[in-house]
Amino acid sequence: MRIDVDWGACEGHGLCEDAAPAVFTVDDDGELTHHFEDTDIPAEHQDAARAAVSVCPVIALHLQT
Ligand code: SF4
Repeated sequence: MRIDVDWGACEGHGLCEDAAPAVFTVDDDGELTHHFEDTDIPAEHQDAARAAVSVCPVIALHLQT
């Protein structure tokens, strides 16, 4: 399972980090880092990653199927 980020849409509010801190982090400048951008998200983080997709207020996170 992978998640694509629409980098142009992301506004850096960090709700995804709250939901899935092992997958997404947002620095003090609102810059998002996706720690599994080019690889599958490990099984133990997938539920949290799905929650992050659901919680993003600007729909910047998209599940790859
Ligand atoms: S919740 Fe959405 S808008 Fe906010 S930092 Fe994460 S991806 Fe960006």
